[in-house]
Amino acid sequence: MYKLEIHGKTFAASHSDSLIKGEPLHGHNYRPIVLIEHDKLTDGMVIDFRIVKKLLNEITAEFDHKVLLGKKDVKEIKGETVVCHSNYSVPKKDAVLLDEDYAMCELLAQRVYRKLEKKLPKFKKLEVKIWETEYGAASFSE
Ligand SMILES: [Zn+2]
Repeated sequence: MYKLEIHGKTFAASHSDSLIKGEPLHGHNYRPIVLIEHDKLTDGMVIDFRIVKKLLNEITAEFDHKVLLGKKDVKEIKGETVVCHSNYSVPKKDAVLLDEDYAMCELLAQRVYRKLEKKLPKFKKLEVKIWETEYGAASFSE
């Protein structure tokens, strides 16, 4: 089995997990990684690293320098302002309104995985891991 580990660009984003853990709005420098396992080579490669890296960076670019908001973070949207349950408001242009309930690392990894799997060939295993801090990461695979 061949195993690839391809690192994408770090992206800076903020989120709030006040509804779950009581933490205020804060930021992370997230580091996304794609892990691929496959048993066949084409021209000596599983896939060109550059293809995966480019796709990964395109997908995660939407998060960079944004406030990530899950459905449950949002109280209401007033025109161009997103009002959150935790008594702060964010200009809509500075936010990413996620389809997921929470802006947690596990769900970001799943979101990136879903977008990536549509654009890559089928491998034995595809996994997306996102490091949130230097000591904690979440990953998603099927
Ligand atoms: Zn956090």
